[in-house]
Amino acid sequence: MRSLRDLELRRRRVFLRADLNVPLDQGRISDGTRIEATLPSLRFVLERGGRLVVASHLGRPEGERRPELSLTPVAEALSGALHLPVELAPDCVGETTERLVNALGPGQVLVLENLRFHPEEEENEAGFALKLARLGDVYVNDAFGAAHRAHASTVGMVRHFRDRAAGFLLEREVTVLSDLLGAPAAPFVAVLGGAKVSDKLGVLQSLLGRVQALCIGGAMAYTFLRAQGKPVGRSRVELDRVSLARETLREAEERGVRVALPTDHLAAERPQADAPSRVVAADAFPENLLGVDIGPATAHAFRHEIEPAGTVFWNGPMGIAEWESFAGGTKAVAQALTEAQGLTVVGGGDSAAAVRDLGFRDDQFGHISTGGGASLEYLEGKTLPGLAVLEEGA
Ligand code: ADP
Ligand code: MG
Repeated sequence: MRSLRDLELRRRRVFLRADLNVPLDQGRISDGTRIEATLPSLRFVLERGGRLVVASHLGRPEGERRPELSLTPVAEALSGALHLPVELAPDCVGETTERLVNALGPGQVLVLENLRFHPEEEENEAGFALKLARLGDVYVNDAFGAAHRAHASTVGMVRHFRDRAAGFLLEREVTVLSDLLGAPAAPFVAVLGGAKVSDKLGVLQSLLGRVQALCIGGAMAYTFLRAQGKPVGRSRVELDRVSLARETLREAEERGVRVALPTDHLAAERPQADAPSRVVAADAFPENLLGVDIGPATAHAFRHEIEPAGTVFWNGPMGIAEWESFAGGTKAVAQALTEAQGLTVVGGGDSAAAVRDLGFRDDQFGHISTGGGASLEYLEGKTLPGLAVLEEGA
């Protein structure tokens, strides 16, 4: 894969596919992490005298023009961050947009309106891809979070460019994640949690062949505990995954992978933020309660695996971390990562959000992936179409 660093940019129109899919709260950006993360690539293009065209999707407009999903607040935020006027084109393709792009001078920037206002973006429709391709002389992909999707802006348009490259953010994501697959410093410990086993089976399978220890928390732990015949009360269990969970545990044993499952839980009467809750031992899970977080003994055991590890990959909150009352286990694991000796990588949208909500800073971790689904697919060993097409051109 070529790097943005290696492209001739001066006076050229640089089409940069970014991931500026920021969370919005009543029209305001509630978390600007994705904007921050893209700035190094944008600044580089501008400093090198490129004519910068930035494209992104925002939310799920499902192929319709939805004013509340306009990139207007993103263009404003970029203007503030870059200390430059940043114009927003009324659409991502078309005559007016082409005129605005062609009027750009070196060191100037234009943001295109939401790519997903057109259904052809997600359909990867050839004519639409060609229209996008008319807006640049060189193509840069910095949207790792969209690299697992074969869309017009991530795949279709790319073949029209001889000069195509990875932006700095995408490059860093690939470097860190490929190190996890390639030669992770031992012991390699994976901490998995979150809502569903079914979402994570692929990555679990892939990691099983690489890690020395696996810590499992979150709702997915209950399916594993059920597989071991343990009581889990009314906790969330995926009944159709119990036998797969049992098989996974057997395979882990065969491979000599240590598996740490919760030995205690925070259990609540209802899945509600203010529901009464108490710590219960895993062997004595009351029938009328449900697990909402790992307990303190489990957090301690996980910390014991994490701190001396050479490499830690963490995906999935340990409990319903959106609610402070059930965020203790997630906070303890995050804290352990910040104190770990080795490389620490956090992947997953909710995990990254939880870490930030709990008051940790990004620089306390080795890497926080900006790509939720993309980082998991990468670690599953799947080929990400957005990366493959960049490699084709190298
Ligand atoms: P990520 O986006 O980081 O991959 P997931 O989407 O897999 O993470 O999981 C996040 C969700 O899992 C959160 O909404 C959280 O509330 C939920 N969750 C974690 N533990 C539990 C639990 N014990 N019961 C119910 N939901 C849980
Ligand atoms: Mg999620």
